[in-house]
Amino acid sequence: MKSDDSTEKSLLEKDHAYTWHHISAYNEKSPPMIWESAKGAWVTDHEGNRYLDGMSGLWSVNVGYGREEIAQAAYDQMKKLAYVPMTQSHKPAIELAEKINELLDDEYKIFYSNSGSDANEVAFKLARQYHQQNGDPSRYKFISRYRAYHGSSMGALAATGQALRKYKYEPLAPGFLHVAPPDNYRRPEGMTVEDYNRHCAEEIEQKIIWEQLETIAAVIMEPLITGGGILIPHRIYVEKVQEICKRHGVLLIIDEVICGFGRTGKAFGHQHFGIKPDIVTMAKGLTSAYLPLSVTAIRKEIYDRFDTGDDNSHFRHVNTFGGNPAACAVALKNLEIMDEEDLFDRATELGDRLLKELKCLEDHPFVGDVRGFGFLLGIELVADKEKKEPVLNGYMTKIMAECKGNGLLVGRNGDTVAGFNNVLTLCPPLSCTDEDLDFIIAVIKKVINGNT
Ligand code: PLP
Repeated sequence: MKSDDSTEKSLLEKDHAYTWHHISAYNEKSPPMIWESAKGAWVTDHEGNRYLDGMSGLWSVNVGYGREEIAQAAYDQMKKLAYVPMTQSHKPAIELAEKINELLDDEYKIFYSNSGSDANEVAFKLARQYHQQNGDPSRYKFISRYRAYHGSSMGALAATGQALRKYKYEPLAPGFLHVAPPDNYRRPEGMTVEDYNRHCAEEIEQKIIWEQLETIAAVIMEPLITGGGILIPHRIYVEKVQEICKRHGVLLIIDEVICGFGRTGKAFGHQHFGIKPDIVTMAKGLTSAYLPLSVTAIRKEIYDRFDTGDDNSHFRHVNTFGGNPAACAVALKNLEIMDEEDLFDRATELGDRLLKELKCLEDHPFVGDVRGFGFLLGIELVADKEKKEPVLNGYMTKIMAECKGNGLLVGRNGDTVAGFNNVLTLCPPLSCTDEDLDFIIAVIKKVINGNT
């Protein structure tokens, strides 16, 4: 239903007057959407326009919007017990930690925080303290990859490998180093995917050696780079990185903030590669973003270095809201829904179909590569297929606006500084219906084929 004109104007005006939007400048010609309600994969704005949310908010609303059971779980928990400082404990936190262990299929200790950035900060602090208490106090550096995004706080942003997001806030936390990630589409000509991925993993080993291996605390990576433009590694890369880390006593932190909780078709993205990380960070899909909650999961053997009976060896980190009882109750209900509706398998089914249907776009003169993993898809747009030059900014903006004009919200990712912010991304709710998927496919085909 449309609201009255004057209300609309004043809401937008008030928004512009009082609200500071994340990561975007105010644009009068394309003002922010004021979201009013949402159900399933569809959001409705304050003017009554409906859009399929092809990005699940910020890669996060895995079970879709409007789940009454989740709202009820939060309500019931808030009424009964709204808050517990996590210096103590409560039943939903304990049950959720047990459930996450089940999903990780190994023994991990669960540390609660509020956001993906928080979870990564905790991972960095834990890694440094672990090495100190393990007789390796000089290990303080972290290796990450260019194009990766790990969060907005000073440490997580230092781990991030996208210069444009960082340079105005530098110097950030010291001790963060970067190497190139595997980008199979742009690998050197004549090199096989296997050799290239092996080579990229070896770059990590080279970095460890050049930096003096006794100084490296951990490597942090996502199972696949998501926000940097859907860069999917070959299995060889992930296995080799783990092997290198193990051989050099370097911890492996896997950031599952986007890839966790069914997004890739398994509980966690790293499970596709058969690795066992030392630390796993998670957020977003943990509660499907109904309430803020994040987790840093630490392997039991590492935790044991903090549990020595010596009063100075515990982890000196606290946050007020982490492990909030209602957020934990919401996470438990969210995971129950995923189980009941078999959403991990559904992600595989939806993602396979999406990739199969859109792969044909590679025949289009400006589509360089269409790639997908689970229910994540990237369409890399290039102005020149031979040279793989990214399309201009204006082309990307036009495609995004046309998708929106046709009722589909899509993402745009990559690395702005290198000019590679040219990947159209899709990360729809895992609860999409077959009709929702048909709609996504039809809009993407229509918009891309209409822009030659
Ligand atoms: N790690 C990854 C891979 C992310 O994509 C994000 C956010 O998009 C973060 C960490 C940071 O999460 P948050 O925004 O909850 O701090």
